Amino acid sequence: MHLPQFRLMFDVGRGSSRLTEVPLLLLTHGHLDHSSGLPYYISQRNLRNLPAANIFVPPELKEPLTKILQLWCEVEDYQTRYNLNSVDYEQYVPLHGNYYFKAFRSIHRVPSNGYTVFEKSRKLKQEFQGLPGHKIAQMKETNHDMFYENYTPQITFSGDTQIEFVLNHESVRKSKVLFLECTYIDEARTIEHTRKWGHIHLEEIIQNQDAFEEVEHLFLIHFSPRYRYDKICKILKEKLPSGLYEKTTPFIPRYFKK
Ligand SMILES: [Zn+2]
Ligand SMILES: [Zn+2]
Repeated sequence: MHLPQFRLMFDVGRGSSRLTEVPLLLLTHGHLDHSSGLPYYISQRNLRNLPAANIFVPPELKEPLTKILQLWCEVEDYQTRYNLNSVDYEQYVPLHGNYYFKAFRSIHRVPSNGYTVFEKSRKLKQEFQGLPGHKIAQMKETNHDMFYENYTPQITFSGDTQIEFVLNHESVRKSKVLFLECTYIDEARTIEHTRKWGHIHLEEIIQNQDAFEEVEHLFLIHFSPRYRYDKICKILKEKLPSGLYEKTTPFIPRYFKK
């Protein structure tokens, strides 16, 4: 998932030459459908003399990925440059302007993160609210402590996770745009089976519909390839409560449409 306005991508999939110019990769976890393009991405950036990629990963992944990447350097007989960072779950990392990202732990079968892009703004502290504008301007001259920094969640990408990723993190529930995995959508897979494999079933989204009240656009991603495009659209229309259906868009790869 590439966000050109922030020059970042969430996960790199199997890799694509179209992603080479994106300088920042926020990797959710190491499963190969999300991460196998990593050595290709790094190698292509080096080949094209682009600055070292900035890559953020769950802390447990730093060591094994460094080993793999080093082996690829041996195989290619070329020492590539890249910055592989363990995420710090407490930190807002600057993107550009007033935008930042932060990692949140998700729940999957392997160590995994979701990521949220925030917009930072300065807000007036409670005790000064309600004062007339000229008074505030006057006080600003002498009192520098009238504002606090506020981070508003804009876009969240879940990666692969159980539903608790939404339930546990307020920033995820308050994101204007939420890309959320929804691997299974019908009774061919039970909720229990879905949870066992660290994923979300459509029924769980419906059961927890209140958690999506503040989300303005919900994009469902990561459908199992067992479902065809038409079937996904039909089931979403049948099952999602209307308020939720209206703001939901299935994000379906082109090859699902056959
Ligand atoms: Zn996975
Ligand atoms: Zn996956």
